[in-house]
Amino acid sequence: MKGRGEAVRAVLKRAAKGLADALYPEAVTCDVCGAELVADTRYTLCAACTAAMPFIRGHRCLNCGVPISDEADYCLRCQRTSALFRRNISPLCYSGEAMELVHALKFGGKRYIAKLLGAMMADEFIRSGEEGEVIVPVPMSEAELKRRGFNQSGLIAEDIGKRLGMPVLPALVKVRETKPQKELTGKERAENLKGCFTVAYGEYVRGRKIVLVDDVFTTGSTANECTRMLLRAKAASVTVLTAAVTVPKNRVEVLPAQKSEE
Ligand SMILES: [Zn+2]
Ligand SMILES: [Zn+2]
Repeated sequence: MKGRGEAVRAVLKRAAKGLADALYPEAVTCDVCGAELVADTRYTLCAACTAAMPFIRGHRCLNCGVPISDEADYCLRCQRTSALFRRNISPLCYSGEAMELVHALKFGGKRYIAKLLGAMMADEFIRSGEEGEVIVPVPMSEAELKRRGFNQSGLIAEDIGKRLGMPVLPALVKVRETKPQKELTGKERAENLKGCFTVAYGEYVRGRKIVLVDDVFTTGSTANECTRMLLRAKAASVTVLTAAVTVPKNRVEVLPAQKSEE
């Protein structure tokens, strides 16, 4: 009965391979350092990179979400400004490893980073208790899109939409080129953006709670200008969801990076 024995061995071999494939699916690696992930992690990050990631925890500014070390409701940036959106929600401070992630996505063309940021942002949105009905990404102009090849905010928005089960609507269109925001002061930034966005699909914006998605929250001028247009189109409210928020330089202490929650 040699044939039968071989057949059994073949079946067992296949079963063993199936089991191995199930236990060790394709190698999953850390999005930052490339180390193979041996444990099941919430994000595609190894333990060391998770620990180094500047997650925002604890007391934070009610407007922009940046961590503040005293009991104030607003950070220095937001004490002086009045925002049209409800608030900004970010899982990360825009520093260190978080900055590297955003750069790798925007300038390194590593589109898979959008999934990692999307996962963190969807979690933070749920934690925030805010409500939303439609996700709208901050748009790029035609020329900007041609230069980069993709809109990182659009990629992130698509991922968040899948995770939260929320439709993604390209309701904002950038109709005019603007100067790079980082070369400008706060006042110039607002001026630079005036009238550069227009609303499409107004019938789906009207009466809806909008979640505006962008990569980084800096002065809030982009978020504010987008919100102005969405509210003009009769959106019920706009909540901003960004991957990272910059820390204002003056006298605002940043809490040390803490381990992410499970
Ligand atoms: Zn790593
Ligand atoms: Zn603030």
